[in-house]
Amino acid sequence: MPEQLKLLIRSGHPIIAIETGDEPRAMDLINKVSDDLQVPATVWSMTSGLICNNKGTIERLVSEGKPLHALQTIKESSLCGIYVFKDLGAHLKDLTMLRLMRDIHNEFTLNRSTLFLVDSAPLPDAIRRFTLPYEIKPPSFEELELVVRSTFRKIAAESIYEVKAEITKRQMEQLVQSLRGLSCSEAGRVVASVIYQDYKLDGGDLGQIIEAKRRVLASAGCLESVAVDRASEDIGGLTNLKAWLKVRRGSYSDRAREFGLEPPRGILLLGVQGCGKSLCAKAVAADWNMPLLKLDPGVLYQKFVGESEGQLRQALRQAEAMAPVILWVDEIEKAFASANASSADGGLSQRMFGTLLSWMQEHRHPIFLIATANNIEALPPELMRKGRFDEIFFVDLPNAANREGILKIHLQRRKRDPDDFDLEVLAEAADGFSGAELEQVIMSSLYRAFAEDSELETQHILAEIAATRPLSVVLGEKIANLRAWAKERCVEAD
Ligand code: ATP
Repeated sequence: MPEQLKLLIRSGHPIIAIETGDEPRAMDLINKVSDDLQVPATVWSMTSGLICNNKGTIERLVSEGKPLHALQTIKESSLCGIYVFKDLGAHLKDLTMLRLMRDIHNEFTLNRSTLFLVDSAPLPDAIRRFTLPYEIKPPSFEELELVVRSTFRKIAAESIYEVKAEITKRQMEQLVQSLRGLSCSEAGRVVASVIYQDYKLDGGDLGQIIEAKRRVLASAGCLESVAVDRASEDIGGLTNLKAWLKVRRGSYSDRAREFGLEPPRGILLLGVQGCGKSLCAKAVAADWNMPLLKLDPGVLYQKFVGESEGQLRQALRQAEAMAPVILWVDEIEKAFASANASSADGGLSQRMFGTLLSWMQEHRHPIFLIATANNIEALPPELMRKGRFDEIFFVDLPNAANREGILKIHLQRRKRDPDDFDLEVLAEAADGFSGAELEQVIMSSLYRAFAEDSELETQHILAEIAATRPLSVVLGEKIANLRAWAKERCVEAD
């Protein structure tokens, strides 16, 4: 990496943008390059001001945190140097700052200085246009393996208890893979936390590592790390879909690659609301032992007005860094709805849709994409084209047998024995109910029974079923259209 960066500096790029959540790694790299090239590095941050480090001699050039003065200072310096501004992006929105950046660009082109913008958030598009993006590669497999080993050795050396490693080569590989996407220091902390729990590093730690990593990455921009609490046995019905997924389990492993398998790219789950699409995303993550990241494209528009495209790119990059992962794009139709029509958002959703499509086509990372959608009318046709997804499944309302299965699952989840209930009668009565509605019926009947101070019985559930007007009645016509449309284009999930 340092060689590549040195080349960029030597070839005279005046402003290089590094968008990363791993600032220490970026700074290590820049400091190394500054040492190798013997060019002093001057660093600005809002809290420290502008500080120059010239061969170990530290000089504070500007003490105040406001960036304007610091930028003017470096612009006027005739010295060829390396300058680093941390998190400047948020300050680059007014015209004076933009003008100043252009001046620096011109000045540095002449005196061959380099300004690095190291930012944890995406830079405004107006700045991006005249900067050269540089991507900090996340720690490699080998680096992370080293972190695991050195963390273990350190704890073993310092602990008063005996610390054991009972881990096979294969488990070690999985464990290191599951740390992908974390910085070295974050990975070290995650590994230390699981070792300290039982003074052991073993295969059983994998689930905890995934959970610990989820907490570290809890929510970054529009990417949310989702807790996985359901597995495929918690899904009633959807037999075809479950069988399809079962066959592909393990296809991201080294063994699968050596066997000549292409890792699956993803599926689109279309269907009636509340029939288990989101549940499936969670179950795949649990069954495949992979972290689940949720990309909520709606948030791209609402929360990051003016930065949506940058945020989407950043989210995709982050998912790549964390791979192997399951990337779940929920309600994909909502985000790109206006990409279909002549859009009123200045082409934003069209551009975002283009970004996502080309990423889906081009990326080569072990990422399994699960996109879910309820409304087919809003889906741009390009998304449905062959080759985008490995398969498009239609998730319909459950039939009687599956309704029985779903009732059974939810009764068991609430510590009730399904054999105490007349499931056949209940499933019959709940014709047209979705999985979510069946779950709701169980919940409400538990309330009903509790209020009556009695144990839950079939009649409580029947009463709730009778009191519910399922969505399939309210949206009867819409669901019929959806079914007719899906018949031609999708594989039935059941
Ligand atoms: P939406 O499109 O509204 O997001 P969805 O199809 O993603 O709906 P889920 O969110 O997965 O539906 O379903 C909501 C809840 O209903 C689930 O968490 C689960 O508890 C229950 N449920 C739905 N379908 C099933 C099923 N097939 N088996 C068991 N539970 C189900």
